[in-house]
Formats: sequence, C-alpha cells, structure tokens
Amino acid sequence: MIVTRFAPSPNGMLHMGHAFSAITAHDLAVNAGGRFLLRIEDIDGVRSKPELADAFREDLAGLGLGWEEVAAQSKRTDTYTAAAHTLREAGLLYPCVCSRADIAAAASRIGAEGPVYPGTCKGKMLPADTAAVWRLDVREAISRTGDLQWNDALAGRQNADPLALGDVVIVRKDEPASYHLAATLDDAADGVTLVTRGADLFAATHIHRLLQALLDLPVPRWHHHPLILDEQGRKLAKRRGSQSLADLRQSGLDGQQLGTELRAGRYTVSPDTPYRNS
Ligand code: GLU
Repeated sequence: MIVTRFAPSPNGMLHMGHAFSAITAHDLAVNAGGRFLLRIEDIDGVRSKPELADAFREDLAGLGLGWEEVAAQSKRTDTYTAAAHTLREAGLLYPCVCSRADIAAAASRIGAEGPVYPGTCKGKMLPADTAAVWRLDVREAISRTGDLQWNDALAGRQNADPLALGDVVIVRKDEPASYHLAATLDDAADGVTLVTRGADLFAATHIHRLLQALLDLPVPRWHHHPLILDEQGRKLAKRRGSQSLADLRQSGLDGQQLGTELRAGRYTVSPDTPYRNS
C-alpha cells in the first residue's frame, strides 16, 4: 500500500507551492487506494506557531483533500533523543560551536543548503558544558555503511552522495533533532512508503538515506516533485510576498477549483528541477 505524507512546518502560512505538494502526495496515495498523512513538523520550538496547524487543516480541507493526521514532531522528542544517543555512542556525531558567519568564512563550497560546513570542530575537545550543535561525521558514517542507493519516482535510481551536504547538524542547540533526523525517523515511524516533497529537498535525501542505514530504518521510495514558480521564475516564499492560500480564499478563490487547475498543470512548474546538487 502506498503511504504518502504532507509535512508542513508551522512557521508561515501555506501558499500555492504547498497546495501543489499536498495535492501531489494526496493523489499519489489515494488514487492507488493508499493513505495520505498530515504531519505537523513543529520541531523548531522558536519559529513554530501552534495556531498555524489549524490554518493548515483549513487549507487542506479548502482544497477538498481528506487526510489522516499523525503525531506532530513536538510529541516525538523521546524518539529523537534516543536516536541521537545511538549515533553519538557509535562515535558518529561531534559537537560544533561555529556560528553561521564562521561557516560562511571557512566554507570552500556552497551546497544545496548554503555554505558546506568544512569540519572545523571535528576532533576538537570542547568543555562538556559547551552549548553546541551535534554534527554527523559523514565520512565516518559512509565508511561504516558503504555505498548506498535510493530511488526517485521521477529522477530514477540515485547513488547516495551525502558528502554533497557535508557534516549536517543532527541535534540542534535547543532542540533534540534537526529536520534531517526528525523527518527521517518520523517517516519510518509513520510507515511512509513514498516520501513526496518538493525537488528543493532532493539533496537532503542523500543524508536521509544515510541516516536510514545507520539507524536500521526501512527505506521508502521518494517522489520529488517540480516546484511551482512565481512570475520571476523564483520558488514561492512567504517572505517574498507569495500569497497564502488563506488570502487567496479570502479574495474569492475556490480551493477545489485551484486543486483542479494545479492538477492540470496550469501554474508554471520549474522546468529545470534541481535534481542534482552540483
Ligand atoms: N517540513 C518541511 C517543510 O515545510 C518539509 C519536509 C519534508 O517534506 O520532508 O519544508
């Protein structure tokens, strides 16, 4: 059975790009007799606004979608802490105190998530009570798992290339997990078989595949869909003034009609999906 999910973070209202993502995930599961899940990704306690979860439910209902809601990330912190402990005990995490500016200054390349962390703190001894993030030692991790592959429904078979993102953060300073760890554990716990999300997260999957191997989790398939772009050809973003679904409804847009148009490909979809993180 196909199980997909829509996993929005409640740090801003949903826009048309989210609607396309939700509809894609919904249809891939439901048209095949499967299940479509909603998971609120509120691991970021500082940026998350709890009231937005209700707004998201209204948005999905407005699009005419049905869903099953699974536990929000804020309810799953024990699982994250346990997995981080396993990785740390295995010698695969190290603490890092670099600021964004430190990383930008030291990085020699830019990856899909910005400047790639060059490993400055690896091997350094820090006082036990130092406030630090914990990063995955990707080279060490790969040496334990060997080469890995994963499958994308649109882009085909991929050789996992977790080094492309570098030693990503696994445990944040004030949170038990980063997006990478939390989403990977959640998808496994929720029985997701087809991880459906935007192509902007394509490179993250290299890391997720590695985490699955390290933590002995089931390996799903992925479907990274193209992104809806604005008139300037940019990814939609609330901060750039992309209209929210709630605003669009307010100004008279019929959500079900929008769903029909999105399914028909009426809105520009990025032609050059960033499938590779080169
Ligand atoms: N919570 C993420 C976001 O809102 C989505 C993560 C995912 O689909 O894996 O961008």
